[in-house]
Amino acid sequence: MTPADLLSTPLQFVKGVGPRRAADLERVGLRTVEDYLLRFPLRYEDRARLVPIGSLRPGQTVTVAGAVLSSGVRPTRRPGFRLFEVLVRDQSGTIRAVFPNQAFLRDVFHTGDQVVLYGAVEYRGGLQIGNPEYEIIRAESDDEDGTVHTARIVPVYEKVGTLTPRLQRTLMHRLVQGLPEDLPDPLPPPVGEATGCRSRRDAIVATHFPPAGADVSVLNAFRTPAQRRLIFEEFFLFQAGLVLRKRRGVEQKARPVEVDDRIRDSARRVLPFRLTDSQKTALREIVADMQRAQPMNRLLQGDVGAGKTIVALLAALVAMENGFQVAFMAPTEILADQHYLTIRRLLDASRFRIASLTGSVPARRRREVVAELASGAVHLVVGTHALAESAVTFADLGLVIIDEQHRFGVLQRATLRAKGQSPDVLVMTATPIPRTLALTTYGDLDVSVIRGLPPGRQPIRTVARPESRRDDVHQMARRELEAGRQVYVIYPLVDDSEKVDLRAATAMRDHLQAEVFPEYTVGLLHGRLRADEKDRVMAGFARGDIHVLVSTTVVEVGVDVPNATMMIVEHAERFGLSQSHQLRGRVGRGDHPSSCVLLYQAPLSDAARERLHALEETTDGFLIAERDLALRGPGDFFGTRQSGLPTLRVGDLLRDHDLMEEARRAAVAWLDDPAASAALVDYLSANWAQRFGLVGVG
Ligand code: ADP
Ligand code: MG
Repeated sequence: MTPADLLSTPLQFVKGVGPRRAADLERVGLRTVEDYLLRFPLRYEDRARLVPIGSLRPGQTVTVAGAVLSSGVRPTRRPGFRLFEVLVRDQSGTIRAVFPNQAFLRDVFHTGDQVVLYGAVEYRGGLQIGNPEYEIIRAESDDEDGTVHTARIVPVYEKVGTLTPRLQRTLMHRLVQGLPEDLPDPLPPPVGEATGCRSRRDAIVATHFPPAGADVSVLNAFRTPAQRRLIFEEFFLFQAGLVLRKRRGVEQKARPVEVDDRIRDSARRVLPFRLTDSQKTALREIVADMQRAQPMNRLLQGDVGAGKTIVALLAALVAMENGFQVAFMAPTEILADQHYLTIRRLLDASRFRIASLTGSVPARRRREVVAELASGAVHLVVGTHALAESAVTFADLGLVIIDEQHRFGVLQRATLRAKGQSPDVLVMTATPIPRTLALTTYGDLDVSVIRGLPPGRQPIRTVARPESRRDDVHQMARRELEAGRQVYVIYPLVDDSEKVDLRAATAMRDHLQAEVFPEYTVGLLHGRLRADEKDRVMAGFARGDIHVLVSTTVVEVGVDVPNATMMIVEHAERFGLSQSHQLRGRVGRGDHPSSCVLLYQAPLSDAARERLHALEETTDGFLIAERDLALRGPGDFFGTRQSGLPTLRVGDLLRDHDLMEEARRAAVAWLDDPAASAALVDYLSANWAQRFGLVGVG
């Protein structure tokens, strides 16, 4: 068998596995020998230091070695429950090892055998070791490889179906024993060399059976050179695939945009304020992309309130001045409507025609808009996912803008893009994506970041208060109202049933209106309202006719009412960290100082307490996102399986983020040489998609 055949051998055919165990392994994604070799232990245990039996104390977890004096099965008072006992002696003393219900051990332990035991010392009418890991050192074997389960640093694997950690260790030991020196290595030799651990085989062996003297704490942090080599390998392959996918996606645009003084003037006329430096930089990057012959694929990232919309609008203007149409897609109707109103106001004096297309546009108007988009009479359309429907076509779509990208599936992005001839695509997100994830999910996008907030913003003071303090909080709100400001009261989804929640939110509104703020107007906004009702409520709040707005999380993204200066979040303990941060971003948008009160129901869970603390401590969206990621893990971060996160075997996006960056640089550099990277490209074309559970590199 060639080394390559060995790696691709199904586990079923490995000695000691068989169909049943293979099925168990397959359920956790382990199909071939290579899969098995590249699965890290859960942790490592140091069983290397032998402790003299005479010095044992209860409570210690130890490794001892000695000879079997006697052994046998002893019945207990519990019917059917029997103990197998072994008496082991070294030069310093004797100890009993006790194995519950394992009579078969009769055939394993023999008087005179040299054994090693690893387990916890306990006192049961005498010292004993309960249910230890054991190993018989056969007299006849000269035992070159040493022990597998004891008297060394041992790997501990996660139990899989019927495969105990011990059994898995035995299998692994057998496999690594048989590994040839020239194990196939997907890393190009110079890249492997640069990791400082050139032999893939050695890295695999040292990862599973670390050499004597290795540091267990480094092993358990997964930072030994051998472990890092294998993690790097995985990241390198992943990043190389992303780079390839991106390069292959490079089509040519029909016409790149051009920018001249006329267009610059036109932009200046639209602009209601001076862009911040950060906004200018982002805009410059975007327009530079649009001027290239390849379509733009860019992510515009910026904290809530950072001012992404105006940057996108200026990009839209450049596209329209070049004769292109623009589609602007937002995740909710409220947001689409708001963008529509903002854009219409700003472009009022221009010659461009703007339309809105959402689910609630009446059928007749809708047909008109669809026809005008097809003919090119409408230049910019703002809408929801209704834009992605098949009936919607464009005369010449040149730019697609997608707000709050993480709310849409990858598919919707692709569908909208397909309505033009390789249009430029700009996606925006207020969920600051930690760098590690940006390198992964958005590995094929270029990124622009708007840092900081526009000038004059007041920081949002955030405090967490128990519900018992609600009266004080209402007093605070009253002071804001008396000063002419407005207040949000956010109601979470508390119950599984939307109906119950709606009733709770409605009751809250009625209570606030009748008993707390009778002299003010209290409005109610939730997802179940008809679109025109929503509009009425939002418009009322924006005009200041509604003073207190009780709302479910539909106001979460993007809603912009600068006169609202206070937010009260009910049941704040139920919200995720990023979501609370998004919500809080609805205030602090004007010239007045703002506050956010997180009302919580005691007692708090540890996780909830941490979240509330983080919110009180910082309003920096990037810090919040990092915290959120640490608390929840990457899988939950986006709350969707469609997030495009890869299936990783050995690497961990959080733990190993430094390696991900290194791997990215190495992959880009290596693929720059087409001749040298041909083999890697072949390998990735065949394996990448399946290995990482993602859409292929083609
Ligand atoms: P987000 O990035 O969250 O989408 P918006 O685009 O809604 O933020 O902008 C938030 C608010 O800041 C809006 O009222 C917008 O008009 C205002 N704004 C944006 N940029 C500036 C600026 N450079 N100077 C002053 N106000 C700005
Ligand atoms: Mg926005």
